[in-house]
Amino acid sequence: MAQQGKVLVVGASRGIGLAVVQAFSAQNWDVTATYRSEIPAAGHVAKSDWHRLDMTQPQAVNAFAAQLGEQRFDLILINAGIFGPSHQKLAQSEDDELAQLFLTNAVAPVRTAEVLLPLLSDEKGVLAFTSSTLSSLNENPDAEMPIYSASKAALNMLTRTLAGEVEAQRGTLLTLHPGWVKTDMGGESAPLTAEESAAGIIQQLNTWRGRGGHHFVDYAGHTLQW
Ligand code: NDP
Repeated sequence: MAQQGKVLVVGASRGIGLAVVQAFSAQNWDVTATYRSEIPAAGHVAKSDWHRLDMTQPQAVNAFAAQLGEQRFDLILINAGIFGPSHQKLAQSEDDELAQLFLTNAVAPVRTAEVLLPLLSDEKGVLAFTSSTLSSLNENPDAEMPIYSASKAALNMLTRTLAGEVEAQRGTLLTLHPGWVKTDMGGESAPLTAEESAAGIIQQLNTWRGRGGHHFVDYAGHTLQW
């Protein structure tokens, strides 16, 4: 099978990110991926170029971009995220854990994308972030899981600051909802497997190539309200 293109996935050691990497590799994409703590088992990483990266460390992000050199990526997916305190109650949360949540889910992904944006191909490039329907007042009017949801709302707004630069590079900006997915974060009750979510995410990344603009869509292609 001919080489399909180059994709970079940030936050791919497990869950949805790992499933995306595996599916792209199976479709003969040239895959670069990052892990924070542990690189996945050998069978999972074959054919992919793995780099260690904690997105919340700006120096590490700069060093990672330098390692990538002059490469250009057709697709960049910033997928990493955390859930924050499991109780999701503001009053019971420590400032440190709130700061870590907003840093990890909102500030670091966009800072990382700012550093990586020069590596986005200027031929139909897509820069995408894994967000959630929970981030939206329209989709989540009762503020379920409010702390996590607020961090993803912040991600969406900060993502918009990249729209001008992405447009100047003739690229497309995507804010993605992966579905409710069986992962360490999503839990066992979730209806979707990581593989099903990944297949949908990959379809969306390909579908939106060359269209321009900033869109909020789910893994099945539905447009979501901000
Ligand atoms: P997991 O908890 O299974 O995996 C999270 C991934 O993010 C891991 O690879 C983790 O690395 C990485 N990560 C966390 N913090 C950092 C960091 N500071 N730097 C780099 N990598 C980091 O989550 P999911 O696969 O379920 O979720 C993936 C994305 O999808 C997240 O953004 C999540 O918010 C979002 N999402 C998930 C839903 C679900 O139902 N599962 C629903 C809606 C959105 P490490 O292994 O080192 O911890």
